[in-house]
Amino acid sequence: MILSTHAVVGGAVASLFPSHPVLVAVAAFASHFAIDAIPHWDYPLQAITLKPGGDNRRLFQDPRLFLDLALIGFDASAGLLLAIWLFAAPATIGVIVLGALAGMAPDPLQLLHSLFPKQPLSTLQSFHRWIHTKRSLTWPLGISSQALFATVVSWLILTVG
Ligand SMILES: [Zn+2]
Repeated sequence: MILSTHAVVGGAVASLFPSHPVLVAVAAFASHFAIDAIPHWDYPLQAITLKPGGDNRRLFQDPRLFLDLALIGFDASAGLLLAIWLFAAPATIGVIVLGALAGMAPDPLQLLHSLFPKQPLSTLQSFHRWIHTKRSLTWPLGISSQALFATVVSWLILTVG
């Protein structure tokens, strides 16, 4: 899923038990893998490759990296703001941000793994790849379904949770 979806779900998880930050971090991190298993669409990156055997060691010489980082930065910031807007009160903003960041964290860890393919990142990467859906939906269904999914999760948490 895109980072915004992970951030909203992570923020939603955080809002369930805001006085338990360790549990929030663990549960939001775990939520990443649970929702990556749902068929979806991810935007293509130009310079960064997360494919098996992908080599990012020359990444910093690739001028297209700037485009990737701009897109990722926009996606992550939008998700963070959405999570805060939906779930945070002045007293809980810190833990909501924690949940959103923990929800997004496994994806930057994939990039870290491609640069430093060592344990425990290797095991995490194998698990991430294993659980991630093999069915890629096409644009625009694969993105509108994510928006709908994030909306339903938010609605459930805000009304029932
Ligand atoms: Zn992922």
